[in-house]
Amino acid sequence: MNEDQLFARIAPLFDVGALSDARVLIGGCGSGGGQVAQQLAMSGVRRFSLYDSDVLEPENVIRHICGRRYLGQKKVDAVADVLLDRNPALELERHAVDIMTCDDLVDQVRRSTVVVLATDNDPTRYRLNQICVENRIPFVIGKVFTRGIGGEVFSYRPCEGGCLACLEIVLERLPFRDGVREIDLVSDEERQKMYGMEIPEIKDSPGLNVDIAFITAFHTRFVLDAIARTLDERPKFLPPIEQNYLVWGNRPVHPFSKNFELQRIQVHAQEGCLVCGNGDSQ
Ligand SMILES: [Zn+2]
Repeated sequence: MNEDQLFARIAPLFDVGALSDARVLIGGCGSGGGQVAQQLAMSGVRRFSLYDSDVLEPENVIRHICGRRYLGQKKVDAVADVLLDRNPALELERHAVDIMTCDDLVDQVRRSTVVVLATDNDPTRYRLNQICVENRIPFVIGKVFTRGIGGEVFSYRPCEGGCLACLEIVLERLPFRDGVREIDLVSDEERQKMYGMEIPEIKDSPGLNVDIAFITAFHTRFVLDAIARTLDERPKFLPPIEQNYLVWGNRPVHPFSKNFELQRIQVHAQEGCLVCGNGDSQ
């Protein structure tokens, strides 16, 4: 089977080859990052750097692209195997390391067309935010809210809009996250303790894979948009996504009022931001 056959069903949509030079850094190969990577590979993206220091555990399987046959394997190896099954021509780099202590992360980000931010903790998110802003590399972050009631996707576009820290400043003034992020609001140490104690509230917090899939679908779309923004000629069937932040509600649970509720927001660079600083004029 050659590559023409592999992409025959999507080739009429856009020149799949236009995406083949893009290099995507996948920061976190869990249920979110794994799905985004798979969707990107199925869209014609061919070069990936996979980051995750974890091993696939039994409790991961029900939501991860990798099933039971990968139990005990490093997530970067398991995800790489699934991606190569889709397209054996992929170029994959595997980094089974902690993003917080990884020495060559800056160089790796600089080599990337776009960074997929799919880690599950704020320190890694903010480290990648800072490196991307300093090097003007686009990133897209996706998060699923407690119990999968919804989620959010934010796209950092260098020189156009704010960064992740700007988003936090803006969200303090908006009601979208009221009551939906209790897990994210506690420190890592506290979270570990709570997982250990199996407090029902925390244990119940993750959503179904189908709820996560709505967010990873938006996440993937924003990554394709970020790649398209770097091309000389924009693919006809990848029209620009205007706003850089999207909030999606899966169910009518506070702060959402109906099933499948969507809000789009343009997050501007904030003057008080300690990371990107000077407002949209920079
Ligand atoms: Zn900022």
